[in-house]
Amino acid sequence: MNENKYTQDRQTDRQTDRQTDRQTDRRLISILVPCYNEEAVLRQFYARTSEVIQGIPDYDFEFVFVNDGSRDGTLAIMRELRAQDARVSYVNLSRNFGKEIAMIAGIDYLQGDAAVIMDADLQDPPELIPEMISWWEKGYDDICAKRRSRAGETFFKKWSSHTFYRILQHLTNIPIQPDVGDFRLINRQCLNAIRLMRESQRYTKGLFSWIGFNKKEILFDCEARAAGQTKWNYWKLINLAIEGITSFTIAPLRAASFIGCLLASISILYMVYIVTYTLIYGGDVPGYPSLISIILFIGGVQLLFLGIIGEYLGRVFNESKFRPLYLVKDYNGKVMIDQKEERQ
Ligand code: UDP
Ligand code: MG
Repeated sequence: MNENKYTQDRQTDRQTDRQTDRQTDRRLISILVPCYNEEAVLRQFYARTSEVIQGIPDYDFEFVFVNDGSRDGTLAIMRELRAQDARVSYVNLSRNFGKEIAMIAGIDYLQGDAAVIMDADLQDPPELIPEMISWWEKGYDDICAKRRSRAGETFFKKWSSHTFYRILQHLTNIPIQPDVGDFRLINRQCLNAIRLMRESQRYTKGLFSWIGFNKKEILFDCEARAAGQTKWNYWKLINLAIEGITSFTIAPLRAASFIGCLLASISILYMVYIVTYTLIYGGDVPGYPSLISIILFIGGVQLLFLGIIGEYLGRVFNESKFRPLYLVKDYNGKVMIDQKEERQ
């Protein structure tokens, strides 16, 4: 396989020093971990994952930690891990950009022939990595871990996520995989495909589905967070859900047009009826309640649809600024004076 023959200027620059001590026939797997305030669990993550990869001698591994503007000792732990293990790299972002952006930052910087994307909180068991690699060996491009159970999550979170996937699936033509998170092994071809998509409001899970390629789902039991606090709350989840829908389909806009046409047709019929009725039987003062309820209903529908249009307009506004997706303060301690963020 010559997947590692990709040519990305920045990456080849960074790769040269590593490649000299890499045997050419061994392939490198990057473990990408976006981290935001994970001091409580990061060492534990590193220890458990290192143990797993020790049992896989046929590959080289690197850890790529992305510090997503943590306010605690996360960065210090990354530095410490790098000092004791040369396989560790870290990308230190200039502030908190959110997990979706932290992931693309990591994907831009990692050097592997494939990458395993994992959460720092050990909810994604590293013990699954050997199985993922075996499917990669069999020729799959994107091996995603599908949650069989979700330990430590509330009934409402499970229910809302299930409903959201069903709605999204109905609205889009792309098969979005339910219960599949970001935990997956993807090969270099898919990584480069993801790197082509520079939209700033990212819904990475959808992007993974969008790129296609050979997908394989493997089942696992999602564990409860090993330590520390979840960064998600319902507000963020609702936002991600809206993100998911508006970045993948214009179905709500179309629905607005359909419902608008339907209401307009009904109104015209009703108008014809009222006019005829008045001409034949004369004016009819009562009817205020029905009138006010119709006005309120139409007003409400209009506001809702304006909101939907605004949602899409907002996306256009955000994307049209062409800002870099993220800013890097330092990469492995090397300060990035010139960001050189590529736009493709
Ligand atoms: N994360 C991040 N930036 C953020 C929020 C979260 O990089 O702004 C990381 C976090 O450190 C963790 C992963 O994304 O590695 C998943 O976050 P979390 O466990 O809080 O989410 P949950 O598993 O509860 O959905
Ligand atoms: Mg988690």
